[in-house]
Amino acid sequence: MSIPPLSDLRTVAHVISLPLVTRFRGIDTREVVLLEGPTGWTEFSPFLEYDDAEAAVWLAAAIDFGWQAQPAPLRERIVVNATVPAVAAGDVTSVLARFDGCRTAKVKVAERGQTLTDDIARVRAVRAALGPEGRIRLDANGGWNVDEAEHAVHELAAFDLEYLEQPCASVDELVQLRERLADWDIPIAADESIRKAVDPLAVARAGAADLLVVKAQPLGGVHRALEIVGEAGLPAVVSSALETSIGLSMGLALAAALPQLDYDCGLGTASLLGADVTSRPLRPESGMLPVGRITPDRDLLERHTAAPDRREWWLARLERCHAVLGTG
Ligand SMILES: [Mg+2]
Repeated sequence: MSIPPLSDLRTVAHVISLPLVTRFRGIDTREVVLLEGPTGWTEFSPFLEYDDAEAAVWLAAAIDFGWQAQPAPLRERIVVNATVPAVAAGDVTSVLARFDGCRTAKVKVAERGQTLTDDIARVRAVRAALGPEGRIRLDANGGWNVDEAEHAVHELAAFDLEYLEQPCASVDELVQLRERLADWDIPIAADESIRKAVDPLAVARAGAADLLVVKAQPLGGVHRALEIVGEAGLPAVVSSALETSIGLSMGLALAAALPQLDYDCGLGTASLLGADVTSRPLRPESGMLPVGRITPDRDLLERHTAAPDRREWWLARLERCHAVLGTG
């Protein structure tokens, strides 16, 4: 992939700050860079704590989506899941209400500072809200060790789980847990093990997962993510990285181009944002999102422009990541 000059990127870059409805990943606001590339609007939004080497992969994705033709979509709409952050059980109904028509919910568990009792109460509330036909998947973000994960499964399996996402942090632990859960028929999905790994295929080779959670930005873009899924030979769920509707349109392009898509995708996360850059944000309607390019509204870009010091911080980061790609 050819990398456009830094000056081209700077000219079309808008640094944006959006409020979140609920605290998520320990943050209350989401900062992103939106870029108007020759093939459409694109997003560069690595989380603040990521180093330049990791963030540069996200820049490669932004350039792929904004400067390259994308693969032909195989579907026009993508079925998506609701996302339930580690909220109190009493707040579950109001969270789910923001995801119109979603039959599947991904529930965050193993949150630092909480206990399994909190998780059980939250999952019970989600099951009550969705009814017996609803699908519930759990995401522990690697927060359990193997014993804790096994114990949690014993307690939570009664709620009928679709799969368990990144129950433990390391690939070795996932392999062990998968062996211990062999009789339970609960698939294990790998997320961080792919997204943050130097070798995203190690998890597939080790037999550590039954399916992959793939995200366009952390994997270097739609084209690269398609290659990784193809090489892994496992079913994939496309998920988001708490992006604006522009970044979500990149995830939808990936989901639309996957040869096989058996699971509802985690791309409904615009519902976690308190504002967006388009007056028609990609929030689920009847549990689905449309595939296609998104153009932000100028007045919303202006309204949500980040403070000058944050703009400088992001442009400096953009420059460093651009340098990483140039020498990489
Ligand atoms: Mg995850």
